[in-house]
Amino acid sequence: MKRRRVVTTPEADEDARRIDEWWMENRGAAPNLFLEELADALALLEMEAGVGVRQPSRAIPGLRRYLLRSTRYHLYFVHGDDAVVVVGIWGATRRTTPRFADRVASTSAAFAAAGDMTTPGFVNRNGQEVMRVVDVPGTEQPQRVYELRCRSCAHRYGSRGSDNFDRQCPACQDGAPGMPLA
Ligand SMILES: [Zn+2]
Repeated sequence: MKRRRVVTTPEADEDARRIDEWWMENRGAAPNLFLEELADALALLEMEAGVGVRQPSRAIPGLRRYLLRSTRYHLYFVHGDDAVVVVGIWGATRRTTPRFADRVASTSAAFAAAGDMTTPGFVNRNGQEVMRVVDVPGTEQPQRVYELRCRSCAHRYGSRGSDNFDRQCPACQDGAPGMPLA
């Protein structure tokens, strides 16, 4: 079975820290229950990325949520080929969710840091495929640029790795102009 790397966004870390503090102050009988349940859930995500149910989100397509049954929190996550990114953790009994639109950038960065989305062959939801990695001269040091190819129109252009997740083609999808490849 394929193991995925589970990584968290800074926002999810902050959610966990806040919830853990609350739990320790208010649930003296089981102060560690939240962290224990969270650790179990993260271990599960490493093995089975498809757990939980879909959470419709315009900002983060493919988002899912998984219920921590004892403590009643939802773990929100999205999986790529090689990594699972935990986007947030939120009270399941609240009528709200995190503002996912505010977490798109950190989700992309987490995927990129995990090495997913930057591997040649990765294709994002807009049909933009990672072809190769190029080091182009930068002002201070060589910059790592990813050559993407649009599957619709075959246009090739450069992208920062953290953009690969939701990059749109500059030629046929009104995406931002590509970075130079040389
Ligand atoms: Zn295109």
